[in-house]
Amino acid sequence: MIPNPYTVQNNDFISTISVACPKCNLQALVLGGDPHKAISEYEDEVRFSCTSCGYALKYANTPKFTIYTNSRGKDVTSRVLIKNSPFDPYFGFNVWYQIETTYGLLWAYNLDHLAVIENYIADSQRSRNGLENKNNSIGSRLPQWVKDSKNRAYLLKIIQRLKKLYFFRNSI
Ligand SMILES: [Zn+2]
Repeated sequence: MIPNPYTVQNNDFISTISVACPKCNLQALVLGGDPHKAISEYEDEVRFSCTSCGYALKYANTPKFTIYTNSRGKDVTSRVLIKNSPFDPYFGFNVWYQIETTYGLLWAYNLDHLAVIENYIADSQRSRNGLENKNNSIGSRLPQWVKDSKNRAYLLKIIQRLKKLYFFRNSI
């Protein structure tokens, strides 16, 4: 069942992210993301893997950034996640499912995420069915041009094309 877009956030879809491999431009995966934990608790689990060219990376091996220098002059480092943008939050690779429309960029972390957005666009009622509007929910974050009923047919058509893309391009 596809969840109601007012009950889920973009962040709920980060456990398996489809990205464009930066080496071969084919579809690859960023695995191990966890929306419910602090990054320091699961950073060893996060990895990038491309089955097409064999390129693989461990998130734990990527550099940390200096956040601030403490009172003893010691640099405090951390990993900064890129959230709510068309890149995986860990390595910053382009998400596979993204497309430049006439109105702006439409993107999703994976097919389940895209299904929530597609379902939202297709649903003329857009009822929350009495469900609580989760903070930062997909339904509340989507831009107005995605919500505009006059764009519905155009956007649904473009999503069908996006699902079939074999080579990464951020526009059709
Ligand atoms: Zn590759």
